[in-house]
Amino acid sequence: MSTVTNATKKTLLLQDGFKKIKVFLLIMRYSRQEIFIGSRKQKLLRKATVTIVGCGGTGSVAAEYLARAGVNLHLIDRDIIEMSDLQRQLYREEDMGKPKALALKERLEDVNSEIRIAAYPDDLNASNIEHYLSGSSLVLDGSDNMQTRFLLNDFCMKNKLPFTYAAAIKSEALFTLIMPCETPCLRCFIPNSDETDTCETAGVLGPAVGAIGIISAAEAIKYLTTSGLNIKGHILHMNFYKNIYELIELKKSKNCPSCRGEYEFLDKPSRRIMQLCGGTYQFLFGKDISVSDIVNNLGKNPDFKIINKSRDFVQLSYKKHMISLFKTRMIVQNAKNEKDVRVLTAKIIGI
Ligand SMILES: [Zn+2]
Repeated sequence: MSTVTNATKKTLLLQDGFKKIKVFLLIMRYSRQEIFIGSRKQKLLRKATVTIVGCGGTGSVAAEYLARAGVNLHLIDRDIIEMSDLQRQLYREEDMGKPKALALKERLEDVNSEIRIAAYPDDLNASNIEHYLSGSSLVLDGSDNMQTRFLLNDFCMKNKLPFTYAAAIKSEALFTLIMPCETPCLRCFIPNSDETDTCETAGVLGPAVGAIGIISAAEAIKYLTTSGLNIKGHILHMNFYKNIYELIELKKSKNCPSCRGEYEFLDKPSRRIMQLCGGTYQFLFGKDISVSDIVNNLGKNPDFKIINKSRDFVQLSYKKHMISLFKTRMIVQNAKNEKDVRVLTAKIIGI
């Protein structure tokens, strides 16, 4: 006599049906892309890992399209989400105060649970760049400053790792893919890091940073699948207010230190206190601290109020300051100057 009841049979049939539907949905996920690029190239995307340095307007948009395309991602960003970011970066009001790398990982895991996403809410510098970038198939520039870009340039040139340069200000945007040994590098056409205008001082249109985010993702897909013609050896210049869309040829510079094998930015020690923008400063501890021990100590002081908290991160308010505390560093908002930051660090960490 069979021990399988009708109810069990129905359950088994349903489970089988769900499995088939799930397999069908998995096949469907990349179907529109696969029709165009082919299943062999789709497999190349699934094996690749792209590291995105800076998860702002360009980085968050590039990450969104690459996650949807099935590419594994490493996300690096040192910043906290602020109200002024929402005009051009893919975050929500409820994300304010969270580290960008963690908020973006959370968002993209809801978009594609099949890929691997690692988030590093950290300051990228000469002491940790090897740890964060090794193993990347390609590095995408989503940063907002030339110091980080020159560091990326030196690391990628030394390790023969392809990387992008993407920058936008006002209604203008630039993009290129740099292939070490093949194309001019970043320092061939931008020799020094004298920064004048920034998004904070000159402003920027959301679509300008978004457009180069999408172009970064498209160029990454083309490079990873060895398809199409990459924008390499040329820089794409766009001005959305003047309807300019042009490719300008780049030339190697005889005086470029990086092309000569001199990687000076890999030897530059990080500054302990650094102004990130406006009244926002970063303080690097130079050692690991226990965030939970610090929070326990501060809990006794009613002037400190906890706003956000996770395993290795806590955000506190203290008087007019917002303080974001990580294992290796802290970010202070609304500080007047470096002295202000030092006083706060001494009060909180005791260093
Ligand atoms: Zn060069």
